[in-house]
Amino acid sequence: MRIVQKFGGTSVADIERIQAVAQRVKAEVDAGHQVAVVVSAMAGVTNQLVEYCGAASPMHDAREYDVVVSTGEQVTSGLLAMVLQNLGVQARSWLGWQIPIHTDSVHGKARILSIDTAELVNRLEDGQVAVVPGFQGLGEDSRITTLGRGGSDTTAVALAAALKADRCDIYTDVEGVYTTDPRIVPAARKLDKITYEEMLEMASLGAKVLQTRSVELAMNHHVRLQVLSSFANTPGTLVCDEDEIVEKEIVSGIAYSGDEAKLTLVGVEDRPGIAASIFGSLADASINVDMIVQNVSEDGSTDVTFTVGRADVDRAKQVVENDDAIVCREVRADGQVVKVSVIGVGMRSHVGVAKTMFEALADKGINIQVISTSEIKVSVLIAEEYTELALRSLHTAFGLDSE
Ligand code: ASP
Ligand code: MG
Repeated sequence: MRIVQKFGGTSVADIERIQAVAQRVKAEVDAGHQVAVVVSAMAGVTNQLVEYCGAASPMHDAREYDVVVSTGEQVTSGLLAMVLQNLGVQARSWLGWQIPIHTDSVHGKARILSIDTAELVNRLEDGQVAVVPGFQGLGEDSRITTLGRGGSDTTAVALAAALKADRCDIYTDVEGVYTTDPRIVPAARKLDKITYEEMLEMASLGAKVLQTRSVELAMNHHVRLQVLSSFANTPGTLVCDEDEIVEKEIVSGIAYSGDEAKLTLVGVEDRPGIAASIFGSLADASINVDMIVQNVSEDGSTDVTFTVGRADVDRAKQVVENDDAIVCREVRADGQVVKVSVIGVGMRSHVGVAKTMFEALADKGINIQVISTSEIKVSVLIAEEYTELALRSLHTAFGLDSE
């Protein structure tokens, strides 16, 4: 078998842990498998590097940012290769540009275009372990790129797809994918299996366990993806196709994101073209809009509410206020909001999920500010102070609590 193993920052946080990681790699080699390992930077290192960039130059060149922040992974890959060699395992590091992992040139958030695997495959077939730093690639401009925070997951999945690996194991500091955040809801349960689609929603709606892009890639290339703990010897969560899951719950998980802010335009002129000019101006300023509601108009004016990322709220307010084409009485911003989402492919065939969700929140006196839905999820925006209460009551209402 050919396996890709990926180890996150806490799993490689110090030399002792890197030694433990090496034992896990060795175990797969001893079992006769071909192994490529993808590593993150040691815990905290990337944050520190990002901070250095901000301190050196607040408006820094994104190409130089990538030169700096990609180094964390380089350190770990060299260290792990050394430790493996000490255990008698043949291993070498392969930096992104050496393989190469080709990406586009969107520095700081590059996407992988292709991976040249010929030489890697030769070495793997000779029994050499490839240790690959995650998060980095080679841009079309021939410079180092990085894949966005959490991007080592994406390196691992893309490598697994390119190498046609039989498995891609993502080792992390939790035992798998949970029904919701166990730090907030103690009754949260680890899922044995979750569908690609649900995992994609979970990741993009706030669950931090996998980078969203990695799930997208796994889904498109049918990579057998497993999330498991590097600190325990328990089976993790398998991310797979729907037909591999026998007992499906209607709702599989509940995600939340505190990275939201709400803007309300009060007393907007109600005429054709007004939404186009509001959201056109925001798009021109590269501000991503998520949920949108527009109220009914009574006296020729209406209220429009929408959400943006919290980091963009001040800029979004300015854009709207400074645009002469947008006539409204007032612009209100609220950063104390959180988006809570219930997710499950079972929603396609079952009615009443929204009803159960809204009733559970109403029972606790939690007001819903904005709602959005898709085929397999319902999201609501609520005041931040109710996050914990909302997650706990929804977890119970959908029968997800562990016994
Ligand atoms: N070290 C990078 C980060 O913290 C990439 C990763 O670990 O996935 O975002
Ligand atoms: Mg991560």
